[in-house]
Amino acid sequence: MKLKMVLACVCLSTSLMLSGCSNTKQTTTAETKSVQTEEKSVSDEEASKDIFAMDTYMTVTAYGDQAQEAVDEAEKEIQRLDELLSTGNEESEIAKLNQTGSATLSEDAGYLVERALELNKETDGAFDIAIYPIMEAWGFPTQNYQVPTEDTLKSLMQLTDASKITYNEDSRKISFGQEGMKIDLGGIAKGYTSSRIMNIFKENNISSGLVNLGGNVQALGTKTDGSKWRVAVQSPDDTEDYLGILSVQDKAVITSGGYERYFEQDGKTYHHIIDPKTGYPAENGLTSVTIVSEDGTLADGLSTSLFIMGKEKAIEFWKAHSDEFDTIMLTKDGTLYVTEGIGDDFSTELNVEIVKR
Ligand code: ADP
Ligand code: MG
Repeated sequence: MKLKMVLACVCLSTSLMLSGCSNTKQTTTAETKSVQTEEKSVSDEEASKDIFAMDTYMTVTAYGDQAQEAVDEAEKEIQRLDELLSTGNEESEIAKLNQTGSATLSEDAGYLVERALELNKETDGAFDIAIYPIMEAWGFPTQNYQVPTEDTLKSLMQLTDASKITYNEDSRKISFGQEGMKIDLGGIAKGYTSSRIMNIFKENNISSGLVNLGGNVQALGTKTDGSKWRVAVQSPDDTEDYLGILSVQDKAVITSGGYERYFEQDGKTYHHIIDPKTGYPAENGLTSVTIVSEDGTLADGLSTSLFIMGKEKAIEFWKAHSDEFDTIMLTKDGTLYVTEGIGDDFSTELNVEIVKR
């Protein structure tokens, strides 16, 4: 089910976001066009690649003389990070750490743990990478879904507290405070990956590019004609529909919702974003949260966090950090809350309340 939904959303987003280019591409392509202007010649050679990694469909697109090199390097980087960070791959750095409880981390994993622990503090525990034992109890990693008993959740919740992790930023040594603790960077890894790709683009002199990692988008610069990228924000009810269109430049646009990965049992739906305070899928009145920020890692971490917080706390959090991000939140009653920093960049036919500082 996940597969079908993701495909639908990628196709939709690709066609909407890349409205400047010919069509949705299934394979690597490179097209060359040169636009002569009076002062300079702008090459808009395009390279684009569809990749399946991190359990999702991704599209990487770059424009410029080194577009093909940039896209090839981006693909390698996605695969490298997937191998490093995946909890499902027994050989990954994170899986090994989860088996032993201590390690000296690589630069990438170290950076992510540092950011994740920071977020854990700032979000008052909503973002908690130590959630993995609970993810396992619900069967999300293996897709052998089940509803755990209250007792199981109670005992596992003693293990899920990221503030018990000891991490030294200089030596990158990490150790868990308790036997049985395990971490999961799934709430932050894709945003980090898209931000890494932005760096790869820049190193290859790309000034216009876009990545779509399973509906999570990050844009470099503008489209080649100088207009902003148009990003469709997915609808949680019907992934073939969208909540609205956001115009962005140099921003990540990352959405979390209970509709992305879930299972049903006895008529109830259980999704993959867990409230660390209860051990159950977060049900705090929001159905979707989109974060818009220059920092892809932050955007990913916060999309998960604000979804867990619910509208009131999320708005409070935004007011304290409005220089770092903006957000679009959809409540169960169908109202969209859009923070004022992006009020003019978001077009929608739904009811909108602009949130002011
Ligand atoms: P997606 O990865 O589907 O785009 P998210 O960014 O919201 O969605 O990440 C959800 C993932 O984050 C889960 O699959 C799980 O790996 C992890 N996760 C779940 N609950 C939490 C939490 N409270 N704190 C941090 N990570 C979480
Ligand atoms: Mg996230």
